Amino acid sequence: MNAPASPPARPAILQQPLRMLVDGQWISARGGARMDVTDPSTGQTLASESLGGAHEIDLAVQAARRAFEGGAWPRLRPAERARLLRKLADLVERHADELALLETLNTGKPLGVARMFDVGFSIENLHYNAGWATKLHGETRAVSLPGDWQAYTLREPVGVVGLIVPWNVPLAMAVGKVAPALAAGCTVVLKPAELTPLTALRLGELVLEAGFPPGVVNIVTGLGHEAGQALAEHPGVDKIAFTGSTAVGKAIVAASAGNLKRVALELGGKSPVFIFADADLERAIEGAARGIFSNSGQVCAAGSRLFIHRSVADRVIAGLCERAGKLRVGSGLTPGVEIGPLISQRQRERVLGYIDSGREEGAQIVAGGAAVTGEGFFVQPTLLVNTRPDMRAVREEIFGPVLCIQTFDDDSLEQLAARGNDTEYGLSASIWTRDLRIAHQMVRRLQAGNVRVNAAAAPDFAMPFGGYKQSGWGRENGREGVEAYTELKSVAIDLN
Ligand code: NDP
Repeated sequence: MNAPASPPARPAILQQPLRMLVDGQWISARGGARMDVTDPSTGQTLASESLGGAHEIDLAVQAARRAFEGGAWPRLRPAERARLLRKLADLVERHADELALLETLNTGKPLGVARMFDVGFSIENLHYNAGWATKLHGETRAVSLPGDWQAYTLREPVGVVGLIVPWNVPLAMAVGKVAPALAAGCTVVLKPAELTPLTALRLGELVLEAGFPPGVVNIVTGLGHEAGQALAEHPGVDKIAFTGSTAVGKAIVAASAGNLKRVALELGGKSPVFIFADADLERAIEGAARGIFSNSGQVCAAGSRLFIHRSVADRVIAGLCERAGKLRVGSGLTPGVEIGPLISQRQRERVLGYIDSGREEGAQIVAGGAAVTGEGFFVQPTLLVNTRPDMRAVREEIFGPVLCIQTFDDDSLEQLAARGNDTEYGLSASIWTRDLRIAHQMVRRLQAGNVRVNAAAAPDFAMPFGGYKQSGWGRENGREGVEAYTELKSVAIDLN
């Protein structure tokens, strides 16, 4: 493991107790409850966040409701909404280094990754969705009712939206929901994960600087089962968009039932990767390694089950072992580090528990397999071979740098796809082959919302992203992602 370099200057937001953004004002929770925010690469405290609960959620929802009903946001000209979103994109870009540093301090991920991926994607996402603000529309319909009719659809913002995001990609997840919701004319209450509030709160400062009307964007920090639950239950919320575990996704569905609010869920995955004998093996090895070790495996679309054709298995496993052994693990502030820590001590114990369960159930560890000694919550990049579909490590989402490897012989594509589909999840899949016939047939057979051929699961704003089965409801990104924040009204006018 590499020792951290001396950290850059601390961003100003860390110099004082963190507060929450409600109705354009920074407030602390009634009762004063607070929690430490921790750097997972050292275990040391970075800041103190305010723990909002049902009271603060209610204030935020009321503010968002006023901004929505009063028209401060939805009735602003679409071009003006686009302009403000672009202004926010420019502000995020101007403060990109500071936001990347905050993300690295709070998650431990490499600074270069935070700058290029987390912050870079956030800027792009704001620009992409700013474009949609002026391009959402209904359409005329040719109806067959007797008489003379003018019929059309109207696309309208769904209303006040609650956004609940996890800790693995905090800023990009927050922006990924805030940007399309605002583009569609909704107002929002954002609840960041309790472990990672820093970049969301800095984003809130930039929202005010950009000049968004009060109440359009509200940010309430707090515990999931308190603030998150209160948001999901609140009768004044028209839609919840959530990313996180499947278990909490189900709790959100139950909590939302009171007013039948719309629910969008981006949940877990146990995504298969197939390497066929004819694949470009160097690229496949690199892609499979990136697909599981990026962000220390804390990625919903991580390729966590690898199926390799037996004829090339030794070569691929040797290549993966070499790659895993060379990855530089350490503090994200150290130049050259590729793998940061897991987000918390609890998450590290959870991941180590899965590695132990694999070992106990007969898997063999050929790389990694342990925590990294010293401060911080690091786990070695780990490869398990001789795994079976019934093992816990193969069935459940680990959310860590752990790849479970199986081989296949000359199974039919039907049988192979069935092995890939043997999971309650259906988020992503990757296929490595040079044979177009195999690629297309596998694409059709796999039950996954996102399939990549000769590539690891890479997101793109133009491509809808979401899951089959228990990986979620709905899609983010693309036209579908922004239309998900609208309702469609059917209008027919009798012209007789
Ligand atoms: P959670 O699903 O608990 O957390 C995701 C978000 O939901 C956080 O903002 C959390 O708040 C909030 N939340 C938690 N409970 C509730 C609730 N009852 N009502 C409303 N919101 C709630 O993930 P964990 O942090 O517990 O991680 C556990 C596992 O979940 C991981 O190991 C991984 O397998 C999976 N996961 C999957 C993610 C994905 O992108 N698919 C992302 C994160 C986790 P708070 O953090 O403040 O509790």
